[in-house]
Amino acid sequence: MPPSGSLNIVVTGGAGFIGSHLCDRLVHKGHAVTCVDNLYTGRFDNVRPLSNHRNFRFVKADVREPLAIEGPVDRIYNLACPASPPHYQRDPIGTVKTCVLGAIHALELARTTGARILQASTSEVYGDPDIHPQPESYRGAVNPVGPRACYDEGKRCAEALFFDYRRVHGVSVKVARIFNTYGPRMLENDGRVISNFVVQALRNQPITLYGDGSQTRSFCYVEDLLDGLELLMESDDTVTGPLNLGNPREVTVKEIADMVLAQTGSRSRLAYHPLPQDDPRRRKPEITAAASALGWQPRIALEDGLRSTIDYFALKVATPTATAKHADSNAVIDVTARPSRKRRTALSTVGGSA
Ligand code: NAD
Ligand code: UDP
Repeated sequence: MPPSGSLNIVVTGGAGFIGSHLCDRLVHKGHAVTCVDNLYTGRFDNVRPLSNHRNFRFVKADVREPLAIEGPVDRIYNLACPASPPHYQRDPIGTVKTCVLGAIHALELARTTGARILQASTSEVYGDPDIHPQPESYRGAVNPVGPRACYDEGKRCAEALFFDYRRVHGVSVKVARIFNTYGPRMLENDGRVISNFVVQALRNQPITLYGDGSQTRSFCYVEDLLDGLELLMESDDTVTGPLNLGNPREVTVKEIADMVLAQTGSRSRLAYHPLPQDDPRRRKPEITAAASALGWQPRIALEDGLRSTIDYFALKVATPTATAKHADSNAVIDVTARPSRKRRTALSTVGGSA
């Protein structure tokens, strides 16, 4: 039993990048956490330190199937979904099902248990935006038939379901539109820009810039995002969102490459690749709604968040100069040796086109 005052919380996607940090935080606050994950892009290693904790349980399950969770449930964070373009495009039909069936199954769990539920939606609902920065009132410019549609439209449909469950069944819902978030525990082969650039820089491999690098994103450090998610979840029932959660500092992808090169002292060169189809040109959240409803704003500067992220990957990544050997991950890499030819081939897909 959790200590009194604590909550029974289900985190779907809890073994992933954001989800595992959320599980850490909730368990350490005394809540009883059930992590549901099929380990598609998540790793059990991310939650292994929690695995013997009396307030934590891991359930290997797929949200595309109905969720059978024993005991009371007070809160559900619905995070299950691959977030990186190469990963969500690897099985696009599976991604649509995860977004849509996963939302239905999580919402059904909320309906039958009376739990409050938060959806991890995304800035991708805005597509390649015509309005800048993006406020919640902007309805977006998603290509419904392009390679990103499985994720973008899946997430849009999930938002619709959340508000229909509120209208039809009175479920207490919260929708966060998360903008690009980064930090420790992203996968080495995640495919997203910060993890790609950091891993490439640490290996002195070419930095894979897609397009001319002038497209922009706004990067939020994971701890700042968690503050926003928790505040939204615990906000008054009338605060449903959708609320943008992200860091409004906008940078070009080329600037990110330069920052990573400077911070790592890498000898990597820039290698230009074609821009993936439908890649949004600009993205920056308007966060005044979250600031006024939650009193939230991000605090961690990009330079500081990058430093923590680089420190994390430095322990994971093979470099010719590294001396330590780390075997604590299921993507184990022997950092005493140069990557094998096979490993090098695998790693080159890190920067592969989305
Ligand atoms: P992630 O890929 O690291 O984590 C997703 C987790 O969901 C993984 O552990 C994966 O194994 C699990 N999962 C995937 N499909 C599943 C299924 N069918 N059943 C059960 N588990 C499944 O990604 P993340 O960056 O931690 O993102 C978490 C959530 O936040 C996602 O819903 C994502 O769409 C959303 N989001 C993230 C970002 C970001 O920049 N990180 C931005 C916008 C939205
Ligand atoms: N990007 C890049 N090189 C990479 C990975 C990504 O130039 O190795 C670019 C990508 O084309 C996009 C931006 O960085 O313009 C952010 O990509 P990411 O996949 O991280 O997130 P998303 O496109 O979903 O915002």
